[in-house]
Amino acid sequence: MAFEGLTNRLSSVFSKLRGKGKVSEEDLNEAMREVRLALLEADVNFKVVKEFIAKVKERALGQEVEKSFTPGMVIIDIVNKELTDLMGGTNAKLAKANKPPTVIMMAGLQGAGKTTTSAKLAKLLQKQNHRPLMVAGDIYRPAAIKQLQVLGEQIKVPVFTLGDQTSPVEIARQAVEHAKDNGLDYVIIDTAGRLHIDEQLMEELKQIHATVKPDEVLLVVDAMTGQDAVNVADSFNKQLELTGVVLTKLDGDTRGGAAISVKAVTGCPIKFAALGEKIDALEPFHPERMASRILG
Ligand code: GDP
Repeated sequence: MAFEGLTNRLSSVFSKLRGKGKVSEEDLNEAMREVRLALLEADVNFKVVKEFIAKVKERALGQEVEKSFTPGMVIIDIVNKELTDLMGGTNAKLAKANKPPTVIMMAGLQGAGKTTTSAKLAKLLQKQNHRPLMVAGDIYRPAAIKQLQVLGEQIKVPVFTLGDQTSPVEIARQAVEHAKDNGLDYVIIDTAGRLHIDEQLMEELKQIHATVKPDEVLLVVDAMTGQDAVNVADSFNKQLELTGVVLTKLDGDTRGGAAISVKAVTGCPIKFAALGEKIDALEPFHPERMASRILG
């Protein structure tokens, strides 16, 4: 699981604090220095770390930690709350169209986990008694359509495809019509990824966006890529008005910094976290639960 390194570092800082009957300003500074280093090592964005530490210190001093009987616990509680806020505060729910279908557009770089996540999300919706449709909009990667069809069969969710000779914009448009005609209430559009962000990719995504007017534009980012994941999110967000981020591969041996920085840098909430290759390894992202997990 990601964050292992961070969790270990933080627990050692906290166990020192916990034992203290009194925490001086110097103790607080020392603890915050260590927290700062731990976050930087976990690949959390530098500016985010700086602001985070400043906020924790301000709150700790404001709450007169020194006078508390359990000053260490008060500080840990403050770190927990600030970390939760940093990751978005509360769970950001998936949008729902006033009139079905709700259209969800999946975007991201190749290999981030878009196709897999589309199926995971479809499964999640299906479990909530919805009737999703997956749309094979990635016509460039040779195996992408097949991959989505195989996943669709596995979870018994229909897949809309027009092969690889029709433009993704037209595929998306017709898919939404198909959903309306067939009483399907969620449309999940898997779009093409590239190895790097390029203009053609953005242009196509913008056209799909303008055509189907999605209720959600979810950017799928690979948490294993650390700061890069945050940079990718930032550039997509500047061009595409993302409504949410899905962090994938949080099960890996990652440093987890992306989960902590992405909301603060982009202003875009993390809506889901993927923690494995299996089809049910997707969960709604709960900042407070993630903060507790990180703090161990
Ligand atoms: P796409 O190019 O963005 O559509 O990426 P894919 O959906 O094809 O995923 C790329 C690879 O990442 C596949 O091997 C997936 O099984 C794997 N993958 C996706 N999500 C996760 C995850 O949460 N954890 C792990 N460990 N692997 C994942």
